[in-house]
Amino acid sequence: MEKKLTEPEFLDGIEEAIKYDHIYAVYQPQINHSTKRMIGAEALMRWKHPVFGVQMPGDFIPVLEKNNLIFTADLHIFELVCRFQRKCMDERRPMIPISVNMSRYDIYNKDYVGEIEKIRLKYDVPVEYLRIEITESSAIGGSELMKSVLEKLHGLGYLVEMDDFGSGYSSLNILKDLEVDIIKLDMRFLQGKVGGRGGAILGSVIQMANWLNTPVIAEGVESIDQADYMKSIGCNYIQGYLYSRPLEESDFFEAIARVIHEPLQKTVDLLKNMDASKFWNPASLETLIFSNFVGPACVFSYEDGKTEMLRVNDKYLREIGMSVTEKEIIGTDPWVNISEEGRRSYEKVIKRAIETGEEKEHEGWRKADSKCCGENRICVRSHIRVIGTAGKQYLIYALVQNVTAEKRKFDEYSENERRFKAAFEQANVYAWEWDIETKEMRPCFRCMRDLGLPPVVENYPEPAIEAGIFPPDYADMYRGWMKDIANGCGTKEGIIPLTVGRVPFYVRYTTEFDENGRPMKAYGSATLVVENKE
Ligand code: C2E
Ligand code: CA
Ligand code: CA
Repeated sequence: MEKKLTEPEFLDGIEEAIKYDHIYAVYQPQINHSTKRMIGAEALMRWKHPVFGVQMPGDFIPVLEKNNLIFTADLHIFELVCRFQRKCMDERRPMIPISVNMSRYDIYNKDYVGEIEKIRLKYDVPVEYLRIEITESSAIGGSELMKSVLEKLHGLGYLVEMDDFGSGYSSLNILKDLEVDIIKLDMRFLQGKVGGRGGAILGSVIQMANWLNTPVIAEGVESIDQADYMKSIGCNYIQGYLYSRPLEESDFFEAIARVIHEPLQKTVDLLKNMDASKFWNPASLETLIFSNFVGPACVFSYEDGKTEMLRVNDKYLREIGMSVTEKEIIGTDPWVNISEEGRRSYEKVIKRAIETGEEKEHEGWRKADSKCCGENRICVRSHIRVIGTAGKQYLIYALVQNVTAEKRKFDEYSENERRFKAAFEQANVYAWEWDIETKEMRPCFRCMRDLGLPPVVENYPEPAIEAGIFPPDYADMYRGWMKDIANGCGTKEGIIPLTVGRVPFYVRYTTEFDENGRPMKAYGSATLVVENKE
């Protein structure tokens, strides 16, 4: 007769249940969805009552916890797992690491680690075949205690899994304090949120875990769609009914031999100079973005031409003029607003950044998302750097600058310049421009033709002085002009006899300044001084 036991019945029966192994473990395999190989298994507690049948942990574990009995039950399961591993060793069967659940109550006033270690040594099972699952809730409120337990477990060589990750709201903060080795994400906590925004956030959590070099196991996976989806966002490890329900020991024993095994892989190389735990934690990701790399910034992933936004800071949103929040932008394709050609040029720069590991610069126009402003095309300059890799996927940090105004001004300048030049071509004048920073001089067509100048004269005015366009006795004066212009004097004018023929020309300079008042370019002209013969 199947029946759910009552609380007093559980309490009455527990001692006997442990003694006669009515409390025992079933085993659920953990599978790599890509290779179909087994990477581990989880031991789950069952209580088979001789009369009333199998009892589920959801019903009796809270009772045991409330009555201080879970410790004994958990150690019992640990012992059964060690016994199982011993049997595999003795029979020279293939072995697989098995995870054992630890209740949050196991660590209050109890030497959980010491006790399991005694058991392990009794059966002499290598520590790599045993893992401990802790839950997020065991860390809340007792994180100092949990931390010391974690340190002890690590000290002995146990890998520790963070179970039910994402069920609490402070998940990320917990990971900062507790350096777990594996994260278990339960699909059931997502409740249909797969895909869309929830999925995107899940995706970035998994990617961050990947970049933290912390493998993720998706639990409660029941359909192939769910498994494929998890795989598509970088999580290959699956535990769930899709591959197997929890198995009775004998079935599991057979299953181990049937399937190929593989070790749990840490797939990712995070750049050496980056502190992984900092990257994971949002507060310190903030630090990373806001302090280490001052300014408007985003982090996106790149793989085979596909990009996905993972993090942006407020400054980024302001700089790009977007009236959206980080939440709304996460998971979107940052390239949707960039033309096909723009993407190609951006991708080229990304590839160079990947190849060289250096910071690279890109500049390009994109449509702005802002509904409120008139500006609908903006020019963005990005300094990008690869900060992590996961297989073929790259994590890219971009520091951005909205250079639209600068660009517009530049375009205006060149437009003015063109008109300016055209006017000079009409009149009987020579014109040229001088770039103050590079000292390059660009002569007009007439200068080139009449004076034999190339399109660009480097280190101006020296070559013109050498060529005798400016006679030696005027050379120093002219050099002084150029120095004054470079220092921002604005205009210079005077009559200078030019060329060996010492033909008098009225020479004049006007300077263009940038918005910071720094001189950028000087426009020079020379007009023949026509003597008044009257
Ligand atoms: P858990 O540690 O999160 O274990 C996973 C639970 O999900 C198991 O339930 C498992 O049977 C179930 N599950 C696995 N795949 C699927 C799936 O595809 N779909 C669905 N719907 N469920 C799936 P179970 O065995 O009933 O255990 C429930 C909980 O009881 C466990 O959750 C764990 O918190 C606790 N528990 C189990 N064994 C132990 C133990 O030995 N010690 C302690 N302290 N707690 C245990
Ligand atoms: Ca578990
Ligand atoms: Ca779980």
